[in-house]
Amino acid sequence: MMKSRNLRLSQLDALPDYDPASMPVEQARELVQQFLTPLTATETVSLHTALHRTLSHDVLSPLHVPPHDYSAMDGYALPFSNLTRLQVIGSSYAGHAFEGVVTAGACVRIMTGALIPKGCDSVVMQEQVSIEGDTITLSSKVHRGQNIRRVGEDMQQGSQVLECGQIIRPAQMGLLASLGFDEVTVYRKLKVAIFSTGDELQQPGTPLAPGQIYDSNRYSLHGLLGELNVEVLDMGNIRDERASIKTALLDAAQQADVIITSGGVSVGEADYIKQLLAEIGEVVFWKIAMKPGRPLAYGKIGTCHFFGLPGNPVAVMVTFMQFVRDALCKLMGQAVQPPFTFNAICTSPIRKIPGRTEFQRGIFSQNENGAWVVRTTGEQGSGILSSMSKANCFIVLPLAQGNVEAGDHVVVQPF
Ligand code: AMP
Ligand code: MG
Repeated sequence: MMKSRNLRLSQLDALPDYDPASMPVEQARELVQQFLTPLTATETVSLHTALHRTLSHDVLSPLHVPPHDYSAMDGYALPFSNLTRLQVIGSSYAGHAFEGVVTAGACVRIMTGALIPKGCDSVVMQEQVSIEGDTITLSSKVHRGQNIRRVGEDMQQGSQVLECGQIIRPAQMGLLASLGFDEVTVYRKLKVAIFSTGDELQQPGTPLAPGQIYDSNRYSLHGLLGELNVEVLDMGNIRDERASIKTALLDAAQQADVIITSGGVSVGEADYIKQLLAEIGEVVFWKIAMKPGRPLAYGKIGTCHFFGLPGNPVAVMVTFMQFVRDALCKLMGQAVQPPFTFNAICTSPIRKIPGRTEFQRGIFSQNENGAWVVRTTGEQGSGILSSMSKANCFIVLPLAQGNVEAGDHVVVQPF
């Protein structure tokens, strides 16, 4: 497999095992990644709206966090000494500091989050003192520096705290706010055009005529894309007519960075997607040695990336989760990690013929001994969307794998 970062289409035929009509999953994943050039344009957005966007720069801390020493407990701040009886000379509350200086033998009532008064270097929890008027008696030994949160102990001014390409998740939103930022510069949103194909498809919310089914794929895709915070251009459902699909593809390629379609990619009479991709763009591969999801067209129309997903609802989700998601993440400037997997004991036998990588829908859990076990969701047809809804993982069965016996170890990829 060639390792160059940006592969050109003309180099494809030189790859030793390149077969666009039966591409092993790992090779397809790597090929897709090699064709992608991440976005460079950025925009500055309000921190409120930054969830799941991608940072376009490293972040250095402009200040120490916390900006000063403060108390980690409700109790009494004091200068460390051997004295056990101390006079309370004032108080320090969060946002309201004690102004004076404290000397040995004195202490200040202090609350969590309040500034440590001048002269103090330790805080005693209120549970460890007894009080008589304005005098306290310590009931346990004090360690110098105890119960104080130190200036800069979370983040030091000038230190790098976030990295370019990091996804902004809730923790990063809070962290940026703790540094005083109310805006953040991120890569611009990726524009993703989607449409379904199929004369049998009806919109949810309208009655079904005989022979019709509801278009569920566009809704799963909205959900999957929603988790990535991309801009979705929903072009609806396009009829199984060559000319209409061609117009839709050309139109989408003008407006979007990526086009994702479902259906019409197999070899039926009305399956125009692959032919059209070859006519108006370039096909990198169109079949993958996987189940479900064998027909999966990937190519380019001009500078726009094109993913022609199968029509079957499970295959749409599986191919998106195995290929499209990482491709979009890379385009958005994120560092893409291999999918997280672990081994579990399979409690159901699985019939499998070697030759394709299978992504069976599974439910993993811990058994009474604490071991990870997994079972299939039952019927595994690529149209059985309820299997995706029940599952919490894929059971990944490699290309060469045959039948699985109950008790065998399998690879689990949690959702
Ligand atoms: P196709 O790849 O177009 O031959 O479609 C394969 C199967 O998936 C057929 O049974 C289609 O009816 C079904 N299908 C295609 N598109 C959708 C969709 N958007 N929602 C639900 N099922 C679909
Ligand atoms: Mg169809």
